[in-house]
Amino acid sequence: MDREAVRILNREIVTCTRCRLAQTRNNAVPGEGPARSGLLFIGEAPGKNEDLTGRPFVGRAGAVLEDLLASIGLERSGVFITSIIKCRPPENRIPRRDEISACAGYLDRQIEILLPEIIIPMGRLASEQVFSRFRIPHGPIGSIHGKTYFTRTSREQQLVIIPVYHPAAVTHNPLLKDVIFDDFRVIGTLIRNSK
Ligand code: URA
Repeated sequence: MDREAVRILNREIVTCTRCRLAQTRNNAVPGEGPARSGLLFIGEAPGKNEDLTGRPFVGRAGAVLEDLLASIGLERSGVFITSIIKCRPPENRIPRRDEISACAGYLDRQIEILLPEIIIPMGRLASEQVFSRFRIPHGPIGSIHGKTYFTRTSREQQLVIIPVYHPAAVTHNPLLKDVIFDDFRVIGTLIRNSK
């Protein structure tokens, strides 16, 4: 049932024409992972490799994400990975406000279908989007990363949000590497304690 709901939603996403990015994309990238993993990782937008393959985080940022997951004993096949924007912005420019708004309903429906227990927004834009959806005041990513925010879903289930820096930030600023690994350790500890 959940898998069927994911399939129906994905079909809508890959044929979406709600914003200008539909004209320049090769493939929309709905995201992938098990429908009931409990963990939802949310990035910013597909890049070149993602646009060519239709899969999330398969480029350099994806390799970093896989290392981060491995550091807390997770495999990418065990978690759901998506982004706030499902289509690549030309030249990987920052997604525009209207593009994020046009795509927001898809992320909302993914959250409703997947019912994650922990959401990990990666980077400033994903954090802003997730915080605004759950009406949590947002601070700069430099002060909210690695912290644990508790909220409730529309079904009154407890939901934990742990914002982290975007994995691509490491490729631009190697000094952030330890910080991101530390933030993932927070996720690992939470998973271990909730078992
Ligand atoms: N960066 C993202 O935020 N999402 C992807 O799918 C790939 C890179």
